[in-house]
Amino acid sequence: MAKKVAETCSEGSTLRATLNLIGESVELLRLSPAVYECLKVPMRFVEVSIPVEMDDGKMKVFTGYRSQHNNVLGPFKGGIRFHPDSNPDEVKALSMWMTLKCSLVGVPFGGGKGAVVCDSRKLSLKEKERVSRGYVRAMGEILGPETDIPAPDLYTDAQVMAWMADEYTHIKQKPSFGVVTGKPLPVGGCVGREEATSRGCVIALQQALAVLDIPLEGARVVIQGAGNVGGYSALLLEEEGCKVIAISDSRGGIYNPAGLDAQAVMAHKKKTGSLECFPGAEPVTNRELLQLECEVLLPAALENQLTADNAGQVRARVVVEGANGPTTPEADRIFHERNILMVPDILANSGGVTVSYFEWVQNNYGFRWDAATVNQRLNDKIVEAFRAVYQFNREHCPNAGMRTAAYAYAIQRLAEAMHYRGWL
Ligand code: GLU
Repeated sequence: MAKKVAETCSEGSTLRATLNLIGESVELLRLSPAVYECLKVPMRFVEVSIPVEMDDGKMKVFTGYRSQHNNVLGPFKGGIRFHPDSNPDEVKALSMWMTLKCSLVGVPFGGGKGAVVCDSRKLSLKEKERVSRGYVRAMGEILGPETDIPAPDLYTDAQVMAWMADEYTHIKQKPSFGVVTGKPLPVGGCVGREEATSRGCVIALQQALAVLDIPLEGARVVIQGAGNVGGYSALLLEEEGCKVIAISDSRGGIYNPAGLDAQAVMAHKKKTGSLECFPGAEPVTNRELLQLECEVLLPAALENQLTADNAGQVRARVVVEGANGPTTPEADRIFHERNILMVPDILANSGGVTVSYFEWVQNNYGFRWDAATVNQRLNDKIVEAFRAVYQFNREHCPNAGMRTAAYAYAIQRLAEAMHYRGWL
């Protein structure tokens, strides 16, 4: 069943892999094939053209996407990325992961995802603002605090969200800050949202080490990526007593077996724009970094980084997926065979959308929570989700990995909701 639909998307694509996993879960759970039918395509997929006046006075037309995958649990929810390689299949797969992520972690949202095809590093701040506002003007009709709520993703941040909230407010002629999450604090943001994805990764990592009886103190962690997720993870892991021995960005990595000073590394990156020439560390290539001996490997960069080609050389006990989709299905199988514990993306990085949910709740109530409340509630959500998936894995699919368990657990909840709503 899964194969039939998956044939329509390209060989080896992320979308294909996701559809296969959804199909396998439906079979594992012995659910009605109608569940697969409901989940195999987004409920709505919109493509728009966004005309933008560039700083040189010329007009450039950007392509924007929004995939509204499924809203059985609540409003569509998910980030908007600005990336030159974004394409409909990728955005669809990412929106599916959001549906699964929200279900898994128990927040009352559906799944959505958006993108603008652009290289944000080549845009001036003003151009970036015009692209952000243009996206909301083009998509305004389908967005809303009760219908579809975007958030930051690759190369979008709190400032982009503020522009989007402002544009939406102009269109609607009333303050509607709840239309996006991940906003700056003065315009309805939530304390702790910026580092929430990383905090969630760290909580998931603690749980994974605990089940393997590996002490957190001194655990060696290798991080691929030094953006929002990788950077904050390094800082938070250092606070927890772990040893961050290597970290990379798109230009390469740095390694020190005795442990890097994460604060100093991030300050160096902020100052110089890269990790290169960080004193007291040796340079490593991306390939070398992924093969370093460590307790935890935390891929927090792009999709398809751990593949059949390098998974056999990974020397970690646990992989915690900070990024969305960093492991291909072949690599996932290899990790399972090699007894490497996988904490899959829809569990590991669900801290972002969890705190987005907290932000949305606060916007709706016009009330602010303090950092201790946010972090405690985030901790409770991730710990509960980890334990549920781990237990589900042992009880229902002991021969499969944690990804299968996470998908099946999330899909079971979605199927229940579909059943009660009369969709099946
Ligand atoms: N972009 C983040 C993710 O992939 C956060 C989404 C959100 O907060 O809605 O999970």
